[in-house]
Amino acid sequence: MSHFYQIALLGAGGVGKSDLILRFTQNRFEDCYDPTIEDQYTKNLELDGKAVKLEILDTAGQEEFSHLINVYLEQREAFLLVYSIIDTYSLEYVKKLCQMILEKKRDIPIMIIGNKADLDKNRRVKIEEIQEIAKLFKYCSYIEASAKLNFSVTESFIEIVRLIWKKNVDN
Ligand code: GDP
Ligand code: MG
Repeated sequence: MSHFYQIALLGAGGVGKSDLILRFTQNRFEDCYDPTIEDQYTKNLELDGKAVKLEILDTAGQEEFSHLINVYLEQREAFLLVYSIIDTYSLEYVKKLCQMILEKKRDIPIMIIGNKADLDKNRRVKIEEIQEIAKLFKYCSYIEASAKLNFSVTESFIEIVRLIWKKNVDN
């Protein structure tokens, strides 16, 4: 039995989507990753004794996302929505994405990641600000992480797999 899931990271530009993927798939971190890249990565992992293969779509984050979001919703099984804890605009962007997703699929698994948790002294977003919107989804978790310090990165990707499994058990 193989577990293959196609997922995508969405969020405003500069929040660390590419670095989260680089950290998770290659244990690397780059200070100036190309902001325009839209690429796909794969990662094999083992969870609860099961082999899991993830195909992860990295998005550019500044597209006309009202159209693209529908395409992603058709093609992807789950989403990681990323904001930066030092950027209130990026939180608003995630909330907007949530609204658009909620209009279409309330039961799609969603992991909301507050990245750059290492920059706590410049914090502009409290984790509590995510609670309300997260509650509206059937399968949603949220966490703060740091791609730079490799903090809660693997956990975030594992959690999205668990959310997918939870949904599959219900259906
Ligand atoms: P993307 O546009 O969402 O793909 O963002 P990138 O992954 O390209 O990262 C944008 C910028 O934020 C880069 O300069 C990264 O080095 C920086 N960055 C990414 N993750 C972190 C993090 O966890 N902590 C800190 N301090 N900087 C980060
Ligand atoms: Mg990027």
